[in-house]
Amino acid sequence: MKHLFSDWDKLRSKIYNSPRVFLLFDYDGTLSPIAPSPSEAKFPSTVKGLIRRLRRNSKFALAIISGRSMKDIKKMVGLKGITYIGNHGLEIEGRNTEFLGSRFHAFIKKIESALYREVKHTKGAKIEHKGVTLSLHYRLVKNRDKALIKRKFYRIVRPFVYSGKVRISAGKQVLEVRPNIEWDKGSAVTWLLKRKRGQILPLYFGDDVTDIDAFRAIKGKGISVFVGNSRKSVNADYFLRDPKEVEKFIKRLVEL
Ligand SMILES: [Mg+2]
Repeated sequence: MKHLFSDWDKLRSKIYNSPRVFLLFDYDGTLSPIAPSPSEAKFPSTVKGLIRRLRRNSKFALAIISGRSMKDIKKMVGLKGITYIGNHGLEIEGRNTEFLGSRFHAFIKKIESALYREVKHTKGAKIEHKGVTLSLHYRLVKNRDKALIKRKFYRIVRPFVYSGKVRISAGKQVLEVRPNIEWDKGSAVTWLLKRKRGQILPLYFGDDVTDIDAFRAIKGKGISVFVGNSRKSVNADYFLRDPKEVEKFIKRLVEL
């Protein structure tokens, strides 16, 4: 993988000569440095200022993508007039795009209320509603009640699994319900690109395994940039070392 700045002249003319450029940035570890806890991963004000300036130029379309929920990522970034993609692509909101996740809200809501009725008296059980996904955390539930809480969860969710609406995934002391579709950051990027009229050059920046699907989705159509160690075997066109370098890149675009 080449460092992006080592190929800057070539890239600059490519961007300069493209009528429209679609910039897609992952949030954590790409625009914002990784923090000890998710709520501490503040959006650097300098980057926010630069993105604001890019937004004024109609040549650029902007999107910020994250594994966070839509509500969370919008709160962290706090910018209007850009596209937001939350929940690893399951939620998309922005200019000229419908809210993709709304298709799933109804039955996730149904599961939530049923689950709430069952577990509300169990101390330590926590339901987390991330828009289109739902998690039941039972880490803080008394050991002797854990099996029961899991049984209740499966009893409620199973009919939705059988009808093909949702799937269940189990993590560390957490059970999660998500829509039963093959959908990742790559699918979200493809979905968005199909809705852009005319010729547009996509550039995708990401630091995580979940971003690799997006790198694949724009292969041959645009430019993928991995943020992190160049020795990692990631199939991207270029790399930048850290969020600081991503900021430098955005600054170069502003000055273009
Ligand atoms: Mg990331």
